[in-house]
Amino acid sequence: MLPFLPMDVIKHWIDNEAVDGGERNGDVFNPATGEKTAKVVYATREDVDRAVASAKKALESWGKTSLAKRTRILFAFRELVERNKDTIARMLTLEHGKVLSDAAGEVQRGLEVIEFACGIAELSKGEFSENVSTEVDSYSIRQPVGVCAGITPFNFPVMVPMWMYPIAIACGNTFILKPSEKDPSVTNYCARLFQEAGLPDGVLNVVHGDKVAVDRLLEHPDVAAISFVGSTPIAKYIYETGTRNGKRVQALGGAKNHMVVLPDADMDLAADAAVSAGYGSAGERCMAISVLVTVGDAAGKLLPKMRERMASLKVGPGIDPTSEMGPLVTKQHLDKVTSYVEKGVSEGAKLVTDGRTLKVSGHEKGFFLGPTLFDDVRPEMVIYQEEIFGPVLSVMRVPTYTDAVKLIHEHVYANGVALFTNDGGAARKFQSDIQVGMVGINVPIPVPMAYYSFGGWKSSIFGDLHIYGRDGVRFYTRNKVIIARWPDPRFRGVNLGFPQNT
Ligand code: NAD
Repeated sequence: MLPFLPMDVIKHWIDNEAVDGGERNGDVFNPATGEKTAKVVYATREDVDRAVASAKKALESWGKTSLAKRTRILFAFRELVERNKDTIARMLTLEHGKVLSDAAGEVQRGLEVIEFACGIAELSKGEFSENVSTEVDSYSIRQPVGVCAGITPFNFPVMVPMWMYPIAIACGNTFILKPSEKDPSVTNYCARLFQEAGLPDGVLNVVHGDKVAVDRLLEHPDVAAISFVGSTPIAKYIYETGTRNGKRVQALGGAKNHMVVLPDADMDLAADAAVSAGYGSAGERCMAISVLVTVGDAAGKLLPKMRERMASLKVGPGIDPTSEMGPLVTKQHLDKVTSYVEKGVSEGAKLVTDGRTLKVSGHEKGFFLGPTLFDDVRPEMVIYQEEIFGPVLSVMRVPTYTDAVKLIHEHVYANGVALFTNDGGAARKFQSDIQVGMVGINVPIPVPMAYYSFGGWKSSIFGDLHIYGRDGVRFYTRNKVIIARWPDPRFRGVNLGFPQNT
């Protein structure tokens, strides 16, 4: 087992070794205690150039490494992640704050993408057509794109990078990861596991940092493709800048996920789902439910059941196995989410449960905010229009199904959505009507399996391919079509006419 050694300084990972940065760095905290636990180096342009040069060099041989060898290394990496998953989950909890069981779930979903990538031999098969013209064959092959980069958010520091690099590397690319500066340790740990699995130097490099590192990746002529996951304003910036610089870009942005509850729904199931999906991971999930749209008289039946469940939620440090919800990631983020609660009150929404009153004994300096519930939220309110990304749920009441769909369609975000009902016809109509990328029917967090692809619509994504699954293989490969004739004396002779299929 690879030991987890707490680091005072979290360094870059280039050519399979830890590399010091320059003078720039940032603080990393344990959100449950508010204590500073480490420093993370922030890359300069030169640090990024070094990582790109290493990835470019590694590409020469990795891009030509056989499918058999690549697959074997991926299987070994899969085994190492599986074997060390408790350590990974623990590291994640200590810097992100989410509870251990949630962290373990995140690692598991990342692992499933590695398992998907283990099937690269099957996934990357080309096509072949014999005799497209007399004695002429045509076939297609998918080849690596080159040096790829990933820029990832704080909220899934293991899973979201694993949506990218296992598939990119399986496809024969080399990869540079710029993880969130808020919870960076776990990225280096996973990169070390990949090294132990046999990954050659330079195939996966990690540079830590902020906008300086990102901007250099976006403009570097040797970076061919960029995958981004984070907030919408940055996703838009990444997409526009990266594509302007001639790169292939997929940029997934923020969300405001609605859960519609029809009056015929199983209200116990809906209450369990709303509380779990609204407050799990302290609402810091891009697929968290942040708006409950109750139709007709559903609210009257649903809200008492939700309040009952909320009253018994245990908020505490994520490392305590009895905690169900942990703190927010940083003090700055706590202040931002708290300011939305103040805004909701000033806008006239009804504050049913106020999480600001929560005290976690022994953890007074932790970044905690209790589950918060607003009722009577209206579409023009800022707390409805903007992504809060914290444990704050808004209830909106509408008279009909049609009003619920209209409300969702008028929102700029379209990442995930859920419908709770016992009416199969209504569910079938909803899944067809709704203009949102990922839909749950009596499932509140419809995150696609590794062998489908993940992505929202509208302002929740920039670029046309979703992430992981078959879209991931398409994104990280370029298609090439070959038309081949093996000379036959019968077909010799000059002919200036346009080639025709015969
Ligand atoms: P963020 O946009 O602040 O940061 C994401 C990444 O971009 C980080 O690596 C960060 O260092 C970098 N970055 C930040 N500001 C930058 C700038 N000005 N220029 C260049 N790079 C910059 O997001 P976050 O706060 O880390 O994560 C939360 C957000 O991510 C939420 O909006 C959430 O909805 C979204 N998210 C979306 C998905 C999805 O699949 N759609 C998944 C997870 C998270």
